[in-house]
Amino acid sequence: MKTRFAPSPTGPLHLGHAYSAMLAHDMATAAGGTFLLRIDDLDQSRSRPAWESQIYDDLHWLGLDWPTPCRRESECLSEYDAALDRLWDMGLLYPCTCSRRDIREALSAPQETLREGPDGLVYPGTCRATPSGPRPHHATLRLDMAKACEATAAPRQFTETGPQHAGTITLTGDAMIRDVGDVVLSRKDMGAAYHLAVVVDDAAQGITHVVRGADLFQATNIHVLLQALLGLPTPIYHHHDLIRDAHGKRLAKRDDARAIATYRDEGLTPADIRAKVGLTRPEAQTIGAISSVSSPTTEV
Ligand code: GLU
Ligand code: ZN
Repeated sequence: MKTRFAPSPTGPLHLGHAYSAMLAHDMATAAGGTFLLRIDDLDQSRSRPAWESQIYDDLHWLGLDWPTPCRRESECLSEYDAALDRLWDMGLLYPCTCSRRDIREALSAPQETLREGPDGLVYPGTCRATPSGPRPHHATLRLDMAKACEATAAPRQFTETGPQHAGTITLTGDAMIRDVGDVVLSRKDMGAAYHLAVVVDDAAQGITHVVRGADLFQATNIHVLLQALLGLPTPIYHHHDLIRDAHGKRLAKRDDARAIATYRDEGLTPADIRAKVGLTRPEAQTIGAISSVSSPTTEV
């Protein structure tokens, strides 16, 4: 088993991150597998070296370990480029010049429906066209979802082991077109978009179990479709519940959510952090026990 934790170095790690990282670590450890850390620094405009070092410090303090050097997305841009070239050559991408406002306006037409997908508003298809010539770089490129679904053989499915949706999840073309739509896979400023990078990364690292928050469950449909298009293996997914405070509010959404570093400065121990998020010591756990951890809440 190979799991990973892939934080973006754009701010401090909070309890929710700690939970995700420890869970991924504990699952790998319990199975005699490997836990990897990946630095998701694709967005260079928001990533900072200081936050990256803070991530290393916090995770080491929590007692986690991983093989080094760890993968940093900013060093893998040519891999994302190759994947984009491949999708372009398959005729599945097209350039889009719409602003957010253009999209809203197009969607306000009477025959259109405003639908919020895993990647924001479902795109109305304004710029959809059959691509020709070489792939434009530094452009926004969208995936033509209808063509992409046609190009992959059914059944497209994945195994989910998280507490909310455990079972076999099947993607239907109709739902992908209606609820997800033409997602952005390349951004003007960043090259690859998250959905493309995460799929390339997980495959390149041989991740067998993706452990991450339930907020990414819907986006997994996009990832599984991209794996099928790019001929990459589909890992098992475990979307854990999000850490909420005693009032049920997601910690990540609280303005005063406290950083791990703050708890540490206040004298809490890693065991205290584990207790706060409802995780016992790794050696006391089996995977079954971990899957049954549900809806962790905490007093902050
Ligand atoms: N950097 C992403 C995040 O923090 C990683 C998501 C993932 O685990 O796929 O949300
Ligand atoms: Zn457009």
